[in-house]
This record gives sequence, structure tokens and C-alpha cells, in this order.
Amino acid sequence: MVRIGVLALQGDVQEHMAMVEAAGGRPVEVRTVEHLKGVDGLILPGGESTTIGGLMARYGLDEAIRERVRWGFPLFGTCAGLILMAVEALGGEPPLLGVLDVTVHRNAYGRQRESFEAEVEVPILGPAPLAVAFIRAPRIVRVGPNVEVLATFRGEPVLVRQGNLLAATFHPEIAGDPRMHKFFLEGVTSWSPPAA
Ligand code: GLN
Repeated sequence: MVRIGVLALQGDVQEHMAMVEAAGGRPVEVRTVEHLKGVDGLILPGGESTTIGGLMARYGLDEAIRERVRWGFPLFGTCAGLILMAVEALGGEPPLLGVLDVTVHRNAYGRQRESFEAEVEVPILGPAPLAVAFIRAPRIVRVGPNVEVLATFRGEPVLVRQGNLLAATFHPEIAGDPRMHKFFLEGVTSWSPPAA
């Protein structure tokens, strides 16, 4: 069974743990570099990117994650998690991992629609749209040449992939549909770290 870490420093950790389980994986809370060694992939949940980024740096998780990403370690970032993966963030830059070649704009939806639910068409998950929540979500305002856009909403990218890095501006873990997590888990099984 594939072991999926959920970065458990701050944010909606329990919802992601439940979705990993629903998708057929074994969820593991990750708070330290030691925890990271036992997992095959890592989810960076939504929350407050400044807080999560600061704690990651304090525990040395930022450098450990960057090193693994160079080996092809799979990451799935949602909302604040996407912000942390980006190489550039507008609207106040938290300490970033800087592994995903996109520029994001934090809290970029207007006040009225700061948070809303929506149905997003995600072709890689099949024809049924995915029920998601945008919660003080960022917008992806630049996509690098090696980044694939897997889904758009109102003409803008909301789900992107760069190799084994997957990231969404929305929360896929709230409505109880595990298809997004299943898709991530399927990619994870094809990764293995270099022999020590
Ligand atoms: N607004 C948060 C940030 O900029 C992200 C919100 C979320 O993860 N739902 O860090």
C-alpha cells in the first residue's frame, strides 16, 4: 500500500488524511524530516502559506523536500500548498520551496468571491465535474514552458502538473470525492528513490 504523507504543520490536514484513505492509500502525518523518510509522496494542504512556509523552514523540511523533488519525489499542493511550491508569489511572499515553475497571486479573488464552491471540469478524471471549494484561493498568473495545465476554471489554469508535481488552486478534499487523490496516488506508485 502506498504511503502518502500529509504535511501536518497547519491547515486542513485531517480532510486530506481521510481522502488518501478513501483513495486506497495509507495516510501519514509529516512534521519532521524523519517522518518524510517513510513516505512515497507528500500532500501540502491548504491553510496559511506564511505560517506553513515558516514552520517548514524552521524544521528543515524545506531543504529535505527540495532534495527529494530533485529525485522525482511526488508532491501534491492545494491552495496554500500550491503557493509554497511556486517559484514566485505576488501579494506577500512566504518562504517558498520554489520547485514549480509558476507565478501565483495570493488571495487574488475579489472580496465578494473570496471563498466559493464550484464544479470544475477535470478531463483527466473523466467527464463528471469535480466539486471543489476555492477558499481565499490564489490565482496562477504565469505558467512556465514545462508546466501542463490539466484544468481551467473561467478560462484560467486551476490545476497544473510539472513532472511529478501536481498543484491546484482549489480544495479537492472537502466534497468527499476521492478522484483527485486517486490520480495523485497512481503517479506515486511509479516513483522510487535512488539506491543509497
Ligand atoms: N490565502 C491563503 C494563503 O495565501 C491560502 C488559502 C488556502 O489555502 N485555502 O496562504
